[in-house]
Amino acid sequence: MKAEIIAVGTELLLGQIANTNAQFLSQKLAEVGIGVYYHTVVGDNADRLYRLIEEAFTRSDLIIFSGGLGPTKDDLTKETVARAVHRPLVHDETALDHIVAYFDRRGIKMTENNRKQALVVEGSKVLPNDHGMAPGMVIEHKGKYLMMLPGPPRELYPMFTTYGLPHLLSLISDQYVVHSKVLRFFGIGESALEEELMDLIDAQSNPTIAPLAKEGEVTLRLTAKAKHISEAEEMIQVIEQKIEGRVGEFIYGYDDDSLESVLVRELIGQKKTVAFAESITGGLVSHMVTSVPGSSAMLKGSIVCYTNDVKHHLLAVPKDILTQAGAVSEETAHILAEEVRLRLGSTYGVSITGEAGPVASEDKPVGLVYIGVADGTQTQVKTFRLSGQRSAIQSRAAKHAIFTMLE
Ligand code: ATP
Ligand code: MG
Repeated sequence: MKAEIIAVGTELLLGQIANTNAQFLSQKLAEVGIGVYYHTVVGDNADRLYRLIEEAFTRSDLIIFSGGLGPTKDDLTKETVARAVHRPLVHDETALDHIVAYFDRRGIKMTENNRKQALVVEGSKVLPNDHGMAPGMVIEHKGKYLMMLPGPPRELYPMFTTYGLPHLLSLISDQYVVHSKVLRFFGIGESALEEELMDLIDAQSNPTIAPLAKEGEVTLRLTAKAKHISEAEEMIQVIEQKIEGRVGEFIYGYDDDSLESVLVRELIGQKKTVAFAESITGGLVSHMVTSVPGSSAMLKGSIVCYTNDVKHHLLAVPKDILTQAGAVSEETAHILAEEVRLRLGSTYGVSITGEAGPVASEDKPVGLVYIGVADGTQTQVKTFRLSGQRSAIQSRAAKHAIFTMLE
């Protein structure tokens, strides 16, 4: 199924607002494996909209309209779509009752042009508007589907999620079911990942493989279409095993997992605890971990050892190490990890020390980070060269600290 999105509104063309509705709809459609091939924006102009609809009919099976369903003169999506499918507009009783009730609740008098909002294209499936007045619509026309949604995102988002998408899926469900699974990666960039999987991505059609990079993490969404859910799951499993065989060491979780939620789940499962000595991250790792419900069962506590004084007095890093090797050094990371583990009585001690910038101190390059992990029998320190602004370096260091624990 080929989909396209037509956003109607002169304010979009003028650059007064961004076309976030198209972004939202594309994301939601991608999640269920429906490919979007065009985004277009057209002003509040009936002729240009009409010509665009004619063009869309030649290339798409699903056309979603955003905006122009309101009561004012410039709102002309409904009228134009009705003309394009050769059907009249008729009053929808449910929608009219909803509008009358909307005005009653607010104690304001309903004007005549608001009745216009209860007009729908004849024979369409009406999508209720729980957050406004104008109802949405789905029309089947010559084997194609047209969906109209109101412009305001606070109306469009819930209408599409609650009514529009489920209706769409029910219309196409006798053809196939759609199932998807997200693989979450860390420690590998989007282009490196794509290179490893190039042939699989090139050959993809069903299941589809959609990479997405965000905040230092990469995800792959695998989406399969099949007659039955079990068949779709099997198809995903086959491709997933191929991916795991190549880049499995970078996969940390699935679907709604986050690095921190996986760490909390794993340590609780193993009945183990952790304590962090955070220098460069200033408490960020602890914040991420404590944002996960249940983390008190695995996080003993942390020490934000920002200054050399605290590294020395609270975590016993010898003064000569701090002055010679420096606070940002393998030696310091080593001792911090061991000492925080001993002092807080946890299974693991983890240290994060590094240079966040913008200017380097101690002759160490910006982005140099050491992460130490101590478990009582051995202590390992890893070195990282991270790039980006101060906050990006801190956030990447925090994620690396958590990922290191998961390896
Ligand atoms: P209303 O009943 O509010 O007039 P409508 O369906 O007629 O709704 P429009 O008049 O086209 O929709 O747009 C109303 C508002 O919705 C716009 O002023 C803008 O704030 C927002 N909006 C419209 N289209 C988009 C879009 N594509 N992306 C994000 N916001 C949008
Ligand atoms: Mg409007």
